[in-house]
Amino acid sequence: MRLLPIKDQIYSILNDIPSTITLVAASKTRTPEEVKEAFEAGLTNMGENYIKEAIEKIEKLSNLEIRWHFIGHLQKNKVKKAVKYFDVIQTVDSVELSALIDKEAKKLNKIMDIMIEINIAKEPQKSGVFPEETMNIVSEIEKFENIKLIGLMTMGPVVQSPEEIRPFFKLAKNLFEQLKPSVPTMQYLSMGMSDSYKVAIEEGSNMIRIGSKIFGPRKYS
Ligand SMILES: *Cc1c(COP(=O)(O)O)cnc(C)c1O
Repeated sequence: MRLLPIKDQIYSILNDIPSTITLVAASKTRTPEEVKEAFEAGLTNMGENYIKEAIEKIEKLSNLEIRWHFIGHLQKNKVKKAVKYFDVIQTVDSVELSALIDKEAKKLNKIMDIMIEINIAKEPQKSGVFPEETMNIVSEIEKFENIKLIGLMTMGPVVQSPEEIRPFFKLAKNLFEQLKPSVPTMQYLSMGMSDSYKVAIEEGSNMIRIGSKIFGPRKYS
């Protein structure tokens, strides 16, 4: 999918979207050198899916001012490391997981920025909170002192054409707008990937997570 060098891909995406949108480079499977190239093109937000792989990169690139987002599925036994190494955990999908994050954050004297992952199409095999459960979970999460809820994240279903995902992005935006008045820290709606970010932005996303359109096709997952 990538036709040009990483930097040119980034410039062309940034040229194409409003400056109010945060572009997170989904850098799973990419080398530290590739991530550095993205940083040098102006990106300061990187998203990683696998804790072990991420920690190696975060340590190698610790001299760069990068905000690291965890965007993979977070297992309970990895919470401690996630809290230590990441700036944002985008994929929180239960009160139980939040409690663990809060506990580890407390130990590090850190306020952990998190987002709630929404399973917007209510797909049985996918992680994430169902839309109708979100309000309750938000009110529970707000009680944790070492957690700051900064937004909602959704993947959306896998579809044939980006147009098919539009109604789900609309639902996510509605949910976001419903929650915002009662959660002053709620700032980001993270939705849209390489093949869907244009539709996502049209429907109100303000944070997109782009992998292959920046770095080229992935060799694995
Ligand atoms: C890999 C990944 C992306 C980016 O996917 P592309 O289709 O390569 O842009 C975005 N979000 C999450 C959660 C991912 O795991």
